[in-house]
Amino acid sequence: MKLLEGKNVIITGGSRGIGKGIAEVFAKHGANVAFTYASSEGPALELEKELSSLEIKAKAYKSNAADFKEAQELIDQVTKDFDSIDVLINNAGITKDNLLMRISEEDFDKVIEVNLKSVFNMTKAVQRTMLKQRSGSIINMSSVVGVKGNAGQTNYAASKAGIIGFSKSVALELGSRNIRCNSIAPGFIETEMTGALNEATVQGWRDAIPLKRGGTPEDVANACVFLASDLSTYVTGQTLNVDGGMLT
Ligand code: NAP
Repeated sequence: MKLLEGKNVIITGGSRGIGKGIAEVFAKHGANVAFTYASSEGPALELEKELSSLEIKAKAYKSNAADFKEAQELIDQVTKDFDSIDVLINNAGITKDNLLMRISEEDFDKVIEVNLKSVFNMTKAVQRTMLKQRSGSIINMSSVVGVKGNAGQTNYAASKAGIIGFSKSVALELGSRNIRCNSIAPGFIETEMTGALNEATVQGWRDAIPLKRGGTPEDVANACVFLASDLSTYVTGQTLNVDGGMLT
């Protein structure tokens, strides 16, 4: 069953990892997909081609989500290209891990800008379009680290916890206009990036998870399908953990 037939969706950071998984699953559910990337032009154009073969509209945009003006210009362009925006998924994110003692001011600021300020930029930019439509679903990619904290990730944890507070506030501000805003908190999701890690270490992480495996981009994408679709029309202001029971 196609749950997103005809919906127009914009995903930040769709060129690889979780964002790519979301783009693929959404296209299979009949959504038209606009997605962004920061620098991976080759993979982004390849994905645009792959998605377009599924009889939906797909388009890749190079845009820095951390830049306020670029986010505004992006939304203007996507609104022109797709007519409306039903769903915004703020997925773009980076890590610059270090102990507090060693973390530089630059690495703290960069992670906050790309992970948290981007969510403000994109949500503010899309707000007018969704207010006019009197409907919309905004999904923000937090992390179990934002819920629980993690040694060596003060910058990342602060950005991901900030996303949860931001999302709950947007849900309260825009609920009366039928605009919903929720966060997803993924646990350990296995992507190409984690494939490069030491197998014994990764197996140790898997063993510590109640469901005994790492998650896949599809696991996160399926949670996004729920929050983007009309199955969740009475769900807003929530944080959905997709972590195999890690935080239970
Ligand atoms: P990833 O594989 O590193 O992919 C990151 C994506 O974000 C890429 O498409 C990248 O584009 C894009 N991006 C980076 N900086 C950007 C910017 N300034 N503007 C626009 N796009 C930008 O990451 P991932 O593992 O899929 O993670 C996706 C999201 O889930 C992140 O927010 C992450 O914090 C969160 N998360 C991940 C995990 C996990 O285990 N993987 C767990 C919890 C939460 P380029 O390809 O052009 O660089």
